[in-house]
Amino acid sequence: MNTQEIIEMDSKYVMQTYGRHKIALVKGKDTTVWDADGNSYIDCVAGIAVNNVGHSNPKVGEAICNQVKKLIHTSNLYYTEEQVTLAKLLVDVSPHQKAFFCNSGAEANEGAIKLARKHSGKGEIITMINSFHGRTITTITATGQPKYQKGFEPLTPGFKYAPYGDIEAVKEMISPSTAAVLVEPVQGESGVIVPPEGYLKQLKEVCEDSNVLLIFDEVQTGFGRTGEMFASQTFGVTPDITSLAKAIAGGFPMGAVLANNDVAESFVPGDHAATFGGNPLGCAAAKASINFILEEKLLDKSKENGSYFVEKLLKLQNQHELINEVRGKGLMVGVEMKTDCGCMVDELFKEGIIVNCAAGNVLRFVPPLTITKEQIDTVTAALNNVLSRY
Ligand SMILES: *Cc1c(COP(=O)(O)O)cnc(C)c1O
Repeated sequence: MNTQEIIEMDSKYVMQTYGRHKIALVKGKDTTVWDADGNSYIDCVAGIAVNNVGHSNPKVGEAICNQVKKLIHTSNLYYTEEQVTLAKLLVDVSPHQKAFFCNSGAEANEGAIKLARKHSGKGEIITMINSFHGRTITTITATGQPKYQKGFEPLTPGFKYAPYGDIEAVKEMISPSTAAVLVEPVQGESGVIVPPEGYLKQLKEVCEDSNVLLIFDEVQTGFGRTGEMFASQTFGVTPDITSLAKAIAGGFPMGAVLANNDVAESFVPGDHAATFGGNPLGCAAAKASINFILEEKLLDKSKENGSYFVEKLLKLQNQHELINEVRGKGLMVGVEMKTDCGCMVDELFKEGIIVNCAAGNVLRFVPPLTITKEQIDTVTAALNNVLSRY
């Protein structure tokens, strides 16, 4: 099928919940993707920070193929070696001690919120203005942006919103019924917002002093995106609970909640479950993906090439009035424009670059961690071309 035929069929048969760009992707290899009309692109979206180990990673593919032949699915009523070995691997690379498996980021946050409420016996959760935590009723409630909530009321009770980066606001908001503070270590959907220096450390102290749990939503920042395996390590702050998804399994759908033993023990049999959670196929994919990150030293590459990317973008900022700010951590990079950046995205498609526009005016670059300096040069040259035409 060509692009036009695919688009027509989508409008007829698929619920129109997405404002899609008019390209249909058919194939990916590492940092490159191809569309249905044969054009290729350097992919700086990577399925929104999912394909950290590159498209169609051969190691992940091999692990999936091998597992498919053995056991695709079984119930959590039984044990599997794949699930326990993935849990151990996650514990080894994270600051946590136990894992629960689910299927998406929203579900991971749901699990984290349930765990915090069960453990504390309290109901209130403080989240941040302009945060993003998912699309279920409870996670749109946790998301501090009315545009995601409108039309879907009644929302889940018990949520309060503090301005991101404002430690005093959180202090004032904490009450005797506060169970947890839920925060993205770097805000993704609202335009790659890096918190002020020391903010996450202060948040940890405030939470500890008030006996409130700290939950990091690392759905987007996890698995090398910010230069360490988790942003908690990048910032040197250990939360009580971490929610994960996106890049966890190299593109295979999966989510997880990580916690320390004392918190994790509050979940007892019957408290929480997911039919597909931690299924052997997903676990095999996740292990292969995490091992690839470790073996190929993608954490070093994320740090090094992230800095290289930002350097090049800062040079562009000197040449182009339109760029307001360049910011990021590792290979999670945002370029804030002085105008709307929706049409820049379309112009960059024509230059063979896939990028997306977050929060209306921020070009967000979250490429596979395997991106090379040469590819970064190509991306920044294309952006230079586009900005020169403005
Ligand atoms: C993408 C994202 C989610 C939602 O994940 P889904 O898998 O789409 O449910 C939650 N939190 C953050 C920070 C995200 O970036």
